[in-house]
Amino acid sequence: MTRWRFAAATDIGLVRQTNQDAVYVDGDVAVVADGMGGHAAGEVAAQIAVETVLEGYRADESVEGLVGAVERANAAIVRDAKENPERFGMGTTLLAVAITYDYAGAASPTLVHVGDSRAYQLRDGALRQLTQDHSVAEEWVRMGRLTPEEAEVHPRRHQLTRGVGVEEEVAVDVLSIDAQVGDRLLLCSDGLSNELVPDELARLAGDPVDLDDAVEGLVAAARAAGGHDNISVVLLEFDEVTPAAAPIRRTVTSTPPPAPALGRPKGGVRPRRFTGRVLLGVVAFLAVAAGVVALTHWYAYSSYYLADYKGAVVIYQGQPSGVLWYRPILLEATPYSMGELRPLDQRAVRATIPEPTLGAARADAKNLFHEWRLGVASTTTTTTNPNATTTTTGKG
Ligand code: MN
Repeated sequence: MTRWRFAAATDIGLVRQTNQDAVYVDGDVAVVADGMGGHAAGEVAAQIAVETVLEGYRADESVEGLVGAVERANAAIVRDAKENPERFGMGTTLLAVAITYDYAGAASPTLVHVGDSRAYQLRDGALRQLTQDHSVAEEWVRMGRLTPEEAEVHPRRHQLTRGVGVEEEVAVDVLSIDAQVGDRLLLCSDGLSNELVPDELARLAGDPVDLDDAVEGLVAAARAAGGHDNISVVLLEFDEVTPAAAPIRRTVTSTPPPAPALGRPKGGVRPRRFTGRVLLGVVAFLAVAAGVVALTHWYAYSSYYLADYKGAVVIYQGQPSGVLWYRPILLEATPYSMGELRPLDQRAVRATIPEPTLGAARADAKNLFHEWRLGVASTTTTTTNPNATTTTTGKG
């Protein structure tokens, strides 16, 4: 069994006119959404996200149900923006932790995450960040293009590479939480994590006071540090916890390619009479086999990457090394050649750059090309351009 105690707060901060964060928590599920978009659109996106995720999770309290709920929230926001053009361009981060049940009915905590809201785990006073920010600067740190210190002051550190409701498809990070009794989880919007350094977060969130007081202390400290953005905080403390039997850590992209149809046996086989039980066994076996094939196929083709193909920058679908007999598929060539990339980027592309979606792959290729062209134009600078066009979402 898994149980937690909880406390939460959301605060407008000292600078913003509205609070575009949305927060929900109860004994089974906690959600933080940091909306973006003008004319109250950010509030709408965050609200839709929280409501849809709760609804989806209630309907199916499995890991798949939780991930599916995020995909539904994505679709719901995209739909709302189409119906209400004044909300075009809205989106939201989404961070949720929920107690999920496996096929055997065992309960364990699972985290799903898109954007730059963060989850930290606190144990014995030590703070560990569980989520990776889906922001341009942080992705570049992971690619080795920026140092963490450079990223902290980079102009694109607040620009998201993934959001909920921004594109038709969404890539969701899914993580089983390996917690012990007494561990705390801190979930927050960037209005908290941008104002306070990790040591400060650890001290305030780990304070052995009442959870409500700890949350209050965190919000007060973020306000004292400037309160430049909306501040949302959820604090959970595990009273009882069972880690997942089969822990998960992966990114799930929505709209997976359709599974291949199972080939029918060729003709020429004499019809045979099966007893009901044998037939049932065969049907069950085929169903399981089809499931395994579909899942393997889905995993094999659930992501994309940029690569060098005979001097052209191309987009592959699949895993660079392949999965079983599923080779990656050369999906399309981008309009750019390897010679139109900076040397560092050429090296990265040759080593392949993973991309969560096709849209992200195209945008990244375009972005790399623009950076090379800017470098050629100025001939002296190789710094990155904060205004380069990408499909990433600016947060304001
Ligand atoms: Mn924010």
